[in-house]
Amino acid sequence: MTAAAGDPGIQPGIGHECPQCGSAQLRQDLVRSAIWHGERLVVVDRIPAVVCDGCGERFYDDATATMLDLMHGDGFPPAEAVAHMHVPVFSFSARVPPDLAPAAEAQE
Ligand SMILES: [Zn+2]
Repeated sequence: MTAAAGDPGIQPGIGHECPQCGSAQLRQDLVRSAIWHGERLVVVDRIPAVVCDGCGERFYDDATATMLDLMHGDGFPPAEAVAHMHVPVFSFSARVPPDLAPAAEAQE
């Protein structure tokens, strides 16, 4: 691991076309990602990524992807969290009108 955190020299994908949509509007940015770890939902902030302004897709370089895997393997220890968020939870079935719900209980 030789790349220092925040190294501005790492710009994967800049100057190329987006593999998803072909847009050339790629930029380096720090992004936030929600990750499920078992039944826990955690957020990793300030991840260096190349972001496509055409379709919104994000691309991580190999070192970043490896680091995210290591963080996942470490189990996201609560003591290492830098902040906490309250996250609202929505029910899809509560939103869908009963006569449109495909659930078995909707049948008579
Ligand atoms: Zn794109």
